[in-house]
Amino acid sequence: MTDRLIVVGGDAAGMSAASQARRRRPPDDLEIVAYERSSWVSYSACGEPYHIAGEVDPLEALVARTPEQFEERGIDVRIRHEVMALDTASRTVTIRRLDDDYLFDDHYDHVLIATGAKAVRPPITGRDLPGVHELRTLDDAADLRAIADRGPDSVVIVGGGYIGLETAEAFEARGWNVTVISAHPGVLDNMLDRDLSLDVVAAMRERGIDVITDTRVNCIVGTDRVRAVEIASGELPAVAVVLGLGSTPEIELARAAGIPIGPTGAIVVDDTQRTPVDGVWAAGDCAEVRHRLTGRPTNVHLGTVANKTGRVAGINLGGDAATFPGTLGAAITRVCELEVASVGLSESDAVAAGFDAVAGTARGTTIAGYMPQTRPMTIRAVAERGTQRLLGAQIVGGPGAGKRIDVFATAIWNDMRADDLEWTDLSYAPPFSGTWDLVAIAAREASRASR
Ligand code: FAD
Repeated sequence: MTDRLIVVGGDAAGMSAASQARRRRPPDDLEIVAYERSSWVSYSACGEPYHIAGEVDPLEALVARTPEQFEERGIDVRIRHEVMALDTASRTVTIRRLDDDYLFDDHYDHVLIATGAKAVRPPITGRDLPGVHELRTLDDAADLRAIADRGPDSVVIVGGGYIGLETAEAFEARGWNVTVISAHPGVLDNMLDRDLSLDVVAAMRERGIDVITDTRVNCIVGTDRVRAVEIASGELPAVAVVLGLGSTPEIELARAAGIPIGPTGAIVVDDTQRTPVDGVWAAGDCAEVRHRLTGRPTNVHLGTVANKTGRVAGINLGGDAATFPGTLGAAITRVCELEVASVGLSESDAVAAGFDAVAGTARGTTIAGYMPQTRPMTIRAVAERGTQRLLGAQIVGGPGAGKRIDVFATAIWNDMRADDLEWTDLSYAPPFSGTWDLVAIAAREASRASR
């Protein structure tokens, strides 16, 4: 008999899973239907800031595959369909067709919840005023691009996370007056230690972006639409406000269906992406994953992890076997030509997780110091005292700095010690690094500190 797979959410995790399952099982063995609330599937949210900046056009360039292309592969994609409820006893989902509000039920043998994450919306007065935006979907990106196109004016970004900063950079590139308000002493506080994050603040200020730290928004001001943002020192005029306060897993559908939610606030799954409820799977931002260093559940909102967990679910749904090997939370971004990256645990997170952790820091340049394009770069490596096992790294620097994090990711993934990495045979030529790449020097500092 033909099985039926329903996928809820048609982006990175959902469509990776659908594609992998389809590769392994033809339509007469497995029917696949994907329901997606928005007008888009398989899109790159990661590229949205670059569309707002005018670097990537048209918006459709951010779409990897259209519903029609999925149809050709035997995957039935229904956009503008929202799954409203899930009944695990009768194996039924209830769907609302958004164009005419028509409600109907669909039966599944397997359902994959891939509902992603949603922007944090703090209880600030005025947050629902026209002109207050968030950046998650392609529709959000189109709205912000239209605003940026209307010509330079003033925009306030509330929050110093990477999506907020990428949006700030996009508006700055379009000639806008940009203010970023961070409640923390720095920005990117879930990627960087405070001292390194201050390098990012300095780079933004140098570029002309006003960064106001240690400050909370009192309210967003306006009558028909946003006019200003109020902080303790007064009002900051703004024709647009972007909320960049992070994201939280979209788990309401799962919670209402009685699917267990873990300590991180995301859906509990095993390493095959099965939830504890028979026939129900979850992947992507809405699901927990295991942190490879702590062994504990975590919930990261990264396209890399969403694609991989979706792939694991799809391989298993397709009848083969795969397990997700865990995450190190490797992340990278660019802010005003500074590249920022992190992987694993910061020193303080490692200590909080029970490691006897220490850090070593190296300051130098991205390429040989005498080359005209050379830029400052700082790398911090974290290691366990005694064993010298690498636990984490952070990088801030000019062009070429950021992807060096992948050396650390590979080293940590393979349980390397700091002194191993110091002596690893890394390549060198003046346009690429110093003779001792700063990666090796940071590893040496971490090795010294952790002996
Ligand atoms: P999502 O991409 O959120 O997709 C979930 C989908 O489910 C959505 O399309 C939603 O409409 C749909 N949905 C939700 N509920 C329902 C329902 N009840 N019925 C039907 N449909 C529903 N990650 C990186 O690794 N690197 C980056 O550089 C990066 N940059 C980013 C920049 C921005 C602006 C944003 C917003 C995210 C960025 N990310 C980045 C994160 C990355 O995009 C996400 O981790 C990834 O998209 C998660 O994939 P997902 O499939 O789990 O969820």
